[in-house]
Amino acid sequence: MKHKPDITFINDVKDVLRSKEIVEEFVPFLERNGYEFYYPFTESTDAEEVARQIELDVDKFELNVASEKLQTLWNSLNNDSVEGDSLYAKDYICVVTMYGPRGFFYTPNTIYVNVTFDSERDWVQTMLHEMLHLAHFEETKELAHAEREGFIDKKFIELWGDTFPEYSKQKISK
Ligand SMILES: [Zn+2]
Repeated sequence: MKHKPDITFINDVKDVLRSKEIVEEFVPFLERNGYEFYYPFTESTDAEEVARQIELDVDKFELNVASEKLQTLWNSLNNDSVEGDSLYAKDYICVVTMYGPRGFFYTPNTIYVNVTFDSERDWVQTMLHEMLHLAHFEETKELAHAEREGFIDKKFIELWGDTFPEYSKQKISK
């Protein structure tokens, strides 16, 4: 069945902090694979400094404004332009953050979008890309990283290439 999923957008400090903790686990992976990412912390950054950095970044990157822009654009897209395939769920949580690569996901249904890169059209594409990762998690989990990204990019272009003709395959994918 074709549908546009319901997305609950969240940008509170608690979830941003959670995103920082998730990113912390895969910084070595990001470095190894040559991803661009934002992560202004080290192992020795203590909780107080983390809280202060998050506060600074919320202001610097205007997190609330960015979150509004992302939601407004998402809401403006009609059902047909962002309809999914059968595996695409009905509900997602989208945490608007400032850390990590452009986007990442956390099973079963959480997407993280980093608004320190690019602008809202790119953020929506990142969101959809991460949704595909969740939808096809089981069938792609055994694939090597580059093959998995290639699979997701192909799906994206099949589904939404007309809506987002500028979507470009990531360098990593085969
Ligand atoms: Zn991906």
